[in-house]
Amino acid sequence: GMPTLPPPVLAPRRQTRQLQVGSVGVGSQHPVSVQSMTTTVTADVNATLQQIAELTASGCDIVRVACPTQDDADALATIAAKSQIPVIADIHFQPKYVFAAIEAGCAAVRVNPGNIKKFDDKVKEIAHAARDHKTPIRIGVNAGSLDPRLLAKHGKATPEALVESALWEASLFAEHDFHDIKISVKHNDPVVMVRAYELLSEACDYPLHLGVTEAGPAFQGTIKSAVAFGALLRQGIGDTIRVSLSAPPVEEIKVGTQILQSLNLRPRKLEIVSCPSCGRAQVDVYTLAEEVTAGLEGMEVPLRVAVMGCVVNGPGEAREADLGVASGNGKGQIFVKGKVIKTVPEHQIVETLIDEAMRIAEETEAA
Ligand code: SF4
Repeated sequence: GMPTLPPPVLAPRRQTRQLQVGSVGVGSQHPVSVQSMTTTVTADVNATLQQIAELTASGCDIVRVACPTQDDADALATIAAKSQIPVIADIHFQPKYVFAAIEAGCAAVRVNPGNIKKFDDKVKEIAHAARDHKTPIRIGVNAGSLDPRLLAKHGKATPEALVESALWEASLFAEHDFHDIKISVKHNDPVVMVRAYELLSEACDYPLHLGVTEAGPAFQGTIKSAVAFGALLRQGIGDTIRVSLSAPPVEEIKVGTQILQSLNLRPRKLEIVSCPSCGRAQVDVYTLAEEVTAGLEGMEVPLRVAVMGCVVNGPGEAREADLGVASGNGKGQIFVKGKVIKTVPEHQIVETLIDEAMRIAEETEAA
């Protein structure tokens, strides 16, 4: 048969240092990974592990948990030990929890230099503890909690201010010869955020964690994150991503995964190629596409399914896909790998497509 060519990507990855966050490699030699953050009270170990299990099942690579209290810090060891994916402790205010998280065996610790008071004095101790435990540190700069000195200097959270903060904190660790660092410079405005990461990528070779912070409810947050990550990944910038949504964290993973699949940065699984419908449509394309999508949800093998409303582009797209339907005259022509295998009445289109998809999936898995 024909050799399978690797799918095209928009840009080679920016070359970075490599990190090991638990079992997940982070940096230009590793795939871009998808992260989310639990919304449970971390000290509620069962609830947190339950949510981590759901995130793992939905494809999350690395999970972050908040650690605002001593009870949360006390829970970290159990959570880190029982989670199926690496756990990063997220510390905002108290350096003592950074040490607790490192001792607890967390795969990494995120610190927010703008929020951790007297952080600068503690860097040496943190660097030593992190080195002893091989724990990488993420320096997470956030527009909403920028160091007051930099806010005063730059007037507001400009890209330059975010980058200056991040590089300053990284340099404090570098003074102690600690370089297991990943950096984020998040802003809620995708334009500011993109510019900040561009500047940061030119100024250092640390791996970068991408995020549009406080991106909003699902629809707006999805768009803001997709355009910002796309603009950066198109330049090879970005080693881990987190889509921040005011929605359950599993939704963040679905969106993050879809962004990477869209850019061929991870293998595509189910892909529905459906037309927008128009005045020529001879079938209700919206309903058909929705029903097929729902019927095939969670399918783990790569499959392109074309759902087309009429015969203008229908046969062409259906032929390019693994499976497809082109509708007309109350009937659907079902295509498999470019050949019409049958013509069914409209009310049987969905079940026929689902049956055929299942059959193809079984064959693919058996092969
Ligand atoms: Fe319109 Fe047909 Fe194209 Fe769908 S496939 S958008 S119905 S012309």
